[in-house]
Amino acid sequence: GATIGILGGGQLGRMLSVAASRLGFQCHIYEPGAAPPAGHVAARVTTAPYEDLAALRAFAQSVDVITYEFENVPTASLDALEAICPIRPNRRALAVSQERIAEKDFLTGLGLITAPYARVTDLASLQAAIAQIGTPAILKTARLGYDGKGQARIMTPEDAPAAWAAMNGAESVLEGFIDFSHEVSVIAARGLDGSVACYDPGENVHRAGILHTTTLPARLSPTQRSDAVLIAARILNALDYVGVLGVELFVTPRGLIVNEIAPRVHNSGHWTQAGCAVDQFEQHIRAIAGWPLGDGSRYADVVMENLIGEDVDKVPALARERATQIHLYGKAEVKPGRKMGHVNRVINRLT
Ligand code: ATP
Ligand code: MG
Ligand code: MG
Repeated sequence: GATIGILGGGQLGRMLSVAASRLGFQCHIYEPGAAPPAGHVAARVTTAPYEDLAALRAFAQSVDVITYEFENVPTASLDALEAICPIRPNRRALAVSQERIAEKDFLTGLGLITAPYARVTDLASLQAAIAQIGTPAILKTARLGYDGKGQARIMTPEDAPAAWAAMNGAESVLEGFIDFSHEVSVIAARGLDGSVACYDPGENVHRAGILHTTTLPARLSPTQRSDAVLIAARILNALDYVGVLGVELFVTPRGLIVNEIAPRVHNSGHWTQAGCAVDQFEQHIRAIAGWPLGDGSRYADVVMENLIGEDVDKVPALARERATQIHLYGKAEVKPGRKMGHVNRVINRLT
């Protein structure tokens, strides 16, 4: 059978590996860290840095298609991989999601609305950006931020020096603060044949910058719901995308504002494991393997809750909830803020 190569062996790589093995594929994981969660289920694991071109070439030679759960792979490494084996989703999807300024330029170029933004490279350009955008605002590192890391709130212009210091000299983007009522995300997929399938948008609640719950259905009017899906489809088509994509949206009276996109399966799509015939992980494997997309229609109202850090202590009690679907990632060490697992609870079955 064919072998799927996955860059990154965290929980997303693990759940992709489970889905792939169910469809008869083998997985080869490439992961710099020791004892990755995906190592429990993948047929093969290479432990090497993302900069090790020789190890990357050997990995690429051993697989039929390469995908990723980690989008911050260096450009030179992607060049080495792509010379040997197709990467899906493609390089352009990676380029626009690796860097927040390129991402916002791309989105606004499609006619979509983002927060007002400006590039920041030093304190003077931050002060100029604050004069242009106003306060409150959020300064974010342009690259490598996740779970709200690498961000500083700016309430008044006097906060500028401390905010810039918090970026450790990294190129950053200043974003105007969006006064949203709530946050939703769309998980969408595009197949090799260009067909598109979107999951119903979910409503996301964050705690300390980390996703806490996703609830289906989201509070959206029929117009907002179709806008959300159309936004995702426009992004997929513009990128000639193959695979699953996550689009984070702010809901405001002025319409839906795009926060960011993730060129991969997404934490806010874990509910699909309990709410759809084909979940986001199988959908991603179907897409990158050139299979037809599966049916992602939602047949249940679902709440997904992340188990973060000490939340895993609740597992014995959760295990007594007989209808709660439990997913644990097999991470040995509990750390504050670390995603240890999640649960899906079906609230209501739809006919
Ligand atoms: P992720 O783990 O989703 O990749 P991240 O570190 O890339 O997170 P963002 O998604 O940009 O960070 O921001 C984290 C959260 O901070 C958002 O979900 C939202 O709640 C809030 N936030 C970010 N940007 C803005 C903004 N411009 N206006 C208001 N709130 C914002
Ligand atoms: Mg992000
Ligand atoms: Mg985000």
